[in-house]
Amino acid sequence: MSDLSKYFDHNATTPMSEEALRVWHDTNSSLWQNPSGLYREAGGAKTRLEECREELADELGIDVPERVVFTCGATEANNAVIRFLIEESAKPVAISAIEHPCVEAAALPWIESGRVRVIPVDPRTGVVEWEILSSWVKRGEVSAVSAMAANNEMGTLQPWLELAGLCGDHEIRFHTDAAQWIGKLPAAQLGECDFVTGSGHKFRGSKGSGFLILPDDEMGNAFHGFVGGPQEEGRRAGTENLPAIASMVSALVELNQDLSVDAMEDCSNNRDEFEAALMRSFGVELIGANAPRLWNTSMFVLPYERNVKWLSRLSRDGFAVSTGSACSAGKGNPSKVMAAMGLDFEAMGRVVRVSGGWDTTREDWQELAEAFDRVSEDLAPQ
Ligand code: PLP
Repeated sequence: MSDLSKYFDHNATTPMSEEALRVWHDTNSSLWQNPSGLYREAGGAKTRLEECREELADELGIDVPERVVFTCGATEANNAVIRFLIEESAKPVAISAIEHPCVEAAALPWIESGRVRVIPVDPRTGVVEWEILSSWVKRGEVSAVSAMAANNEMGTLQPWLELAGLCGDHEIRFHTDAAQWIGKLPAAQLGECDFVTGSGHKFRGSKGSGFLILPDDEMGNAFHGFVGGPQEEGRRAGTENLPAIASMVSALVELNQDLSVDAMEDCSNNRDEFEAALMRSFGVELIGANAPRLWNTSMFVLPYERNVKWLSRLSRDGFAVSTGSACSAGKGNPSKVMAAMGLDFEAMGRVVRVSGGWDTTREDWQELAEAFDRVSEDLAPQ
């Protein structure tokens, strides 16, 4: 899609920023050597890699850059962390009910045996049930907790800093999947979490880039999630994708510089106006709107017709929106996230996710609302 003003699927992926693209290109042209090589040019690549590690650590409020392990994205990082945490202890690991499938699927084989406990969320807000979780933590029933910082479907936020504090106070490990938080909200305290995962293409960096933050202690040293070569101190084998890593870091530095409370408020006001317009014109049921949410995300249940019908009409009109992971047309597997939010199978087939970007303007949101309105007239039951 060339017209970014009509791209409303930023939670799926984002276009690279001009600067990130330039860095990616330059790094591919001039520092393409393998950072593990022993000749001078490879040394240059290695130096650049370590600079990226330091810069990323800085952006996330991490004092020890060695805590940063570069990966190819959040899926592989989440898979590895969840398996590691489960295998590290005989006690169960607690995982929120609304995790991304790459966390959920990694934990799935252990749910039946009780090695993984699912933390329910409040269906109005998508926030983990604090009382339940804190009783598990305080009684020492779980060895670790994993709760995503921001949900990719609804944009709902978890109180991850408080969760990290609760776990820290009881000497329990805490992991947060921050793939949707980073680049959209301030990230400088993420270093307080033991484990953090992120993905470059979610915040205007290159695809194929991501990272994993490990604790700076014995447990962090014991992590060998990907075996093979000695890259990343033996914690993630495989040749580092330096151009993608450098572009990811430059995109984050750029976005964090521009993140201001006023700008975020303006963006969420534009999104709120869009939702109000939809409510006025044909009525939608917002999901997770009773809680703090990402400023760019809106998820709702349409009043009639299957979501895919709306999506294809909108696409013809030039607008890219998504069903998120909600099943399309009430077919396929029911979405666990939507089920945790209290939606039945039929309603899941009417769910739409809209996710704007950093450059999406008030006019763009208004145009999208008008497009929805046109489609609603078309699809309304006669
Ligand atoms: N975690 C969350 C919250 C996500 O939204 C995504 C992507 O959709 C991922 C993990 C997976 O990221 P990647 O595409 O880098 O594997």
